Amino acid sequence: MGKVARLLFLGGLGRSGSTLVERLLGELPGVCALGEVVHLWQRDIVDDERCGCGERFSGCPFWTAVGERAFGGWSGVDTERLHALRDSVERTRHIPRLAAAHLPAALRGDVEEYAEHYARLYEAAASVAGAEVVVDSSKHSALAYCLRWSPEIDLRVVHVVRDARGVAYSWTKTVARPEADGAAEMTRYSPTRSALLWTAHNAAFDLLARRGVPVRRLRYEQFLADPRREVRELAAYAGLSVSDADLAFVTADHADLTAGHSAAGNPMRFATGRLALRRDDAWVRALPRAHRRLVGAVCAPMLRAYGYPLTTAQSRQPAQTPQPAATPQIEEA
Ligand SMILES: [Zn+2]
Repeated sequence: MGKVARLLFLGGLGRSGSTLVERLLGELPGVCALGEVVHLWQRDIVDDERCGCGERFSGCPFWTAVGERAFGGWSGVDTERLHALRDSVERTRHIPRLAAAHLPAALRGDVEEYAEHYARLYEAAASVAGAEVVVDSSKHSALAYCLRWSPEIDLRVVHVVRDARGVAYSWTKTVARPEADGAAEMTRYSPTRSALLWTAHNAAFDLLARRGVPVRRLRYEQFLADPRREVRELAAYAGLSVSDADLAFVTADHADLTAGHSAAGNPMRFATGRLALRRDDAWVRALPRAHRRLVGAVCAPMLRAYGYPLTTAQSRQPAQTPQPAATPQIEEA
């Protein structure tokens, strides 16, 4: 069986900037940005939330065409079955087994069935959009580990990393979810919890790279330092050649965004028009000192490995040359 879809998978812990990275990639010709596909099966097929284009999922012409091509219509997807599969394979606790050199027989059938849904969806999206590359910003490391076993997916991971203290501050803030048309808010985490998640998720992507999957680490702060150059390099990583004209939408300090068909994710997926690109260092002032120290201590080995300064006095200018490897926090199988 040949590869049917070239996938750029944006991974990392939430609030690390992956939505912005995805939005910029989605402006490139040949790229179709899908949002967080991991949530599509529930929030879109079942709950009929809003697409990035503003339409309800069921009313969006793009997703309607994708569903027809991939599954003969979305009613062809057994969402209960998919939830069960997800529980049995796509969880962080399964990563040590999914990281093995050979997929354990007990997991094989479920992993293949689960990944097959994604492969069909990616192929259909690329076909409907006329794109060479699809971008899935699902972020979950366990999903990337499942997709690595699909013979149909040409998987390339972009591991988006942001300073753990900025991530922790972001997780303490209240963010509304406009797509739910109600009073719904995004999840919040305590600094302790986000520090532990930051370490575990980032370690999982470092381990995935050591398993031979193409993984390119992208520090969000560096991305914002020169977004045009970074978008060009990500395009090359995805196997696309882009011209200067293709990059005209992005400069050093802003990007011009058009509406896309992001299925789910951060509310920033709805933004269109001119968007300022600047580093958000609010956490340096707004994250209480005790929390800053706690997160800094928990995440110290990997912050150092990724080239982040450990004292906030230096935090505005992270080192330019990260050390090569991070400390793995997940057992290798
Ligand atoms: Zn749409």
